[in-house]
Amino acid sequence: ESFTDMCLHSSIMKDIAFHEYSTPTSIQAQAMPVALSGRDLLGCAETGSGKTAAFTIPMIQHCLAQPPICRGDGPLALVLAPTRELAQQIEKEVKAFSRSLESFRTAIVVGGTNIAEQRSELRAGVNIVVATPGRFIDHLQQGNTSLSRVSFVVLDEADRMLDMGFEPQIKEVQEPYMYRAWWLRETMWEKSNTLPHLQLGYTWSDREIDETREIDLGKDLAHENHVMRNLPEKYQTLLFSATMPVEIEELAQEYLTNPVQVKV
Ligand code: AMP
Repeated sequence: ESFTDMCLHSSIMKDIAFHEYSTPTSIQAQAMPVALSGRDLLGCAETGSGKTAAFTIPMIQHCLAQPPICRGDGPLALVLAPTRELAQQIEKEVKAFSRSLESFRTAIVVGGTNIAEQRSELRAGVNIVVATPGRFIDHLQQGNTSLSRVSFVVLDEADRMLDMGFEPQIKEVQEPYMYRAWWLRETMWEKSNTLPHLQLGYTWSDREIDETREIDLGKDLAHENHVMRNLPEKYQTLLFSATMPVEIEELAQEYLTNPVQVKV
């Protein structure tokens, strides 16, 4: 498959030509159509295979299909990478393929750099955040950014992230969606039984979330609709790893939905 066959945005095509990528590498030919179709992906590929562009280009294309970013909005896409150096490389690639797009903004959020500068950049509103897990969670906890608009997540070099002990941060990024999905399921179930009241609770893993909400369906349908509208879509998640130990398989099982596996 060629880049032309992938139905990419004309600006992206222009940047691909500018950077003289004439034919997709093997991982790109396999992974890009899957990522562009909206499906989750488990990719086994090493650095040097062209994996960065394999997720970067579909990620930019995904962002272009979303409503525009305004000041104060959280990002549409998030890439987590184990090290500052890798995050910088990814950001460079994102910039390379969004070069021709006006007002397309990307922030790099890594440790060892000025947190105040990152905060103002994040608060200004960006399309894509490329981050190391620890620093990203710091910003999330400080309220400098949010996951509310994120619908595309890439976990790059996931095996290295696990080796470095970043599993809790990965979990923190994936969980808000899960709570809400569970909540939605309960809501639908209760609704079909036409109960006048809903008592909604969250339970996840070993942790009991003490947030319970009551909705009076009879009186408060507007609120109910509001709640439904504000549920995020399921994240599309792409997980890349050079090796596939059992820990990665478990991570994939937990966070990916019916993923397509590709290997180079
Ligand atoms: P990566 O595995 O993503 O680190 O990419 C390795 C190198 O290959 C980078 O320097 C890319 O710029 C380059 N590269 C990736 N895809 C292509 C392509 N389709 N054609 C030519 N060079 C590429």
